[in-house]
Amino acid sequence: MESSTQKESTNALLNKLRAAVLGANDGVVSTSAVVMGVAGASSDNQAIATAGFAALVAGALSMAVGEYVSVSSQSDTEKAFIHREKRLLRKNPIDEERQLAKYYESQGVSAGTAKKVAADLHESNALQAHLRMHFGIDEDDLNSPLQAAIASLVAFTAGGLVPFLAVILAPDPYKLIATFVAVLVALIATGYFSAKVGEAHKLKAIVRIVIGGALAMLLTYGIGTLFGTAI
Ligand SMILES: [Zn+2]
Repeated sequence: MESSTQKESTNALLNKLRAAVLGANDGVVSTSAVVMGVAGASSDNQAIATAGFAALVAGALSMAVGEYVSVSSQSDTEKAFIHREKRLLRKNPIDEERQLAKYYESQGVSAGTAKKVAADLHESNALQAHLRMHFGIDEDDLNSPLQAAIASLVAFTAGGLVPFLAVILAPDPYKLIATFVAVLVALIATGYFSAKVGEAHKLKAIVRIVIGGALAMLLTYGIGTLFGTAI
């Protein structure tokens, strides 16, 4: 029981880490793309910095709102499950216990043991056992929409600050190259951590994420240049 609870919360933590790395990665890529696009069209440093700042704020807010909405609707659904299950357990505990025993039998536990397991679980925490059986959720693992929203806001901002600070702090002739390099270094870091969290191949993840980010910057810079000369 203890180890299963521990595993659930490790999974929840891994999901949060994964979301944080993805949020930071989004912040790096989208803010740098905007900065590069404007830099391609104009050499006005104030315009570049303003666009970068706007991209950072808009991206962070839109991530936060999106996360809030998605986690809210997910947790509404889960609360409805919990409510329904509580009612069933109150109204019909014997049928519910039998159902739980059937479930353990279907998992390969012998009928007698399954009956005992179900009885024990109904004795200790029937609701938790039923939530896991029916929905694979844990009442303690419910995500808070506000917490999720703040986490993605922070993650996106942390990522977006890399190109933003690089472009405003680097001396003039090196602004673009400094931003490009800072972004690639940040992407190597997010690629490394996302592979580490997901236990995936690190080099592959880094190469994929770095090529993607470099392409995004070069493309928007190119489009910005075309746009800038067209005007
Ligand atoms: Zn049930």
